[in-house]
Amino acid sequence: MHFSSPDFALAQQLDVEDELAGFAEQFSNPDPDLLYLDGNSLGRLPKATPAHLQQALTREWGARLIRGWNDGWLDLPQRLGAQIAALIGAQPDEVLVCDSTSVNLFKLAAAALRYQNGRPKLLSDDLNFPSDLYIFQGLVDLLGGGRRLELAQTSDGIEVSQTELARSIDAETALVSLSLVAFKSGFLYDMKAVNLLAQSAGALTLWDLSHAAGAVPVDLNGSRADLAVGCTYKYINGGPGAPAFLYVRKDLQAQLNLPLWGWFAAQAPFAFGLDFEPAGDIRRFQVGTPPVLALRALEPALEILQAAGIPRLRRKSVLLTEYVIYLADQWLAPLGFTLGSPRAAERRGSHVALRHPHGYQMCRALIEAAPPAPRVIPDFRAPDTIRLGIAPLYNHFSEIHRALSRLRQVAETGEYAAYPAVRQGVT
Ligand SMILES: *Cc1c(COP(=O)(O)O)cnc(C)c1O
Repeated sequence: MHFSSPDFALAQQLDVEDELAGFAEQFSNPDPDLLYLDGNSLGRLPKATPAHLQQALTREWGARLIRGWNDGWLDLPQRLGAQIAALIGAQPDEVLVCDSTSVNLFKLAAAALRYQNGRPKLLSDDLNFPSDLYIFQGLVDLLGGGRRLELAQTSDGIEVSQTELARSIDAETALVSLSLVAFKSGFLYDMKAVNLLAQSAGALTLWDLSHAAGAVPVDLNGSRADLAVGCTYKYINGGPGAPAFLYVRKDLQAQLNLPLWGWFAAQAPFAFGLDFEPAGDIRRFQVGTPPVLALRALEPALEILQAAGIPRLRRKSVLLTEYVIYLADQWLAPLGFTLGSPRAAERRGSHVALRHPHGYQMCRALIEAAPPAPRVIPDFRAPDTIRLGIAPLYNHFSEIHRALSRLRQVAETGEYAAYPAVRQGVT
């Protein structure tokens, strides 16, 4: 991608040409001087969500009480699952919204390892999100039987090569579980190629779509993925701690044996039978009572995503991340920053990692700036990565320009040195 100039006028021109620019209006934004580049950790609040939740509270819980379950609460996990399915290339009856990403990962990985009885190896990579790796470590510990976790290795801290994966997937591999977009570098796997490698070795695949869903095209059916999980509080804008989703390929659903047998997974939960008989469909992957209010908060968010459409969002996201990299090359590389993300757009998700030895203090300076400097919210990932999350639903080119020129100022003036290098709780 070629940009003709680092001037603000070009950013403004790109905003004028942006066919999705109007979608930002649908999100709460009480402080126009706050440049929010952290939609990959917690998406913005849709303006329609508070009234929608208020209705769920008063008209549903308040007025309908227990009758709400038959009025539509009971199948919310499936109905919302069907909406998410449309964003990730799955059939409506292959996705369920429930539990957290970590818990869903545990459920599906446990089921897959037991299904693949006799194969001892769970393969992931060393770019994966720590919670995913902890879940796998705990699972190997729990199941025993000689099972082990192996990690394909990155050579540059940014990508894991296809050669490394091909070398790591073998006849002992039960399950290959990777994040489609790496949380730190933004590296985007070729899902189809990995599924093919796994399949030809007889391994199942389990994808974590947390940093992809809602921003990056995903075709679970078309690429023949077996299992997936993902988060709805990042690019899907479902709110802090919003329930996660899981996907199970249709013909695998009745074959997997879950490690948690809750009543909502039963064929007939309200028959109150004493022996567990699992549902044969996607309901089998649910555990207990769905969090109705949290699920309701997802509805306005999903409506916006559907209206924008993933292909248009991806086009804009690529243009925005290319623009970040262009400005970083012009302004920040001379100040000691390096790019911590793939340069090739087709290998990159919707965030850009910029690395600098004083990255943490620079993040603090960006976040805590006193007016008139704009406040920029990126996030920080140890040891030196400033992560700029680009949410194509509401980020503008002019915001990117302002944020990067502010980062240049922080680096150039050395004002970051006034901020402590000791980390806070949430970075
Ligand atoms: C955000 C994220 C999670 C979060 O898991 P929770 O159970 O919601 O805390 C897990 N995995 C990946 C890859 C993530 O990006």
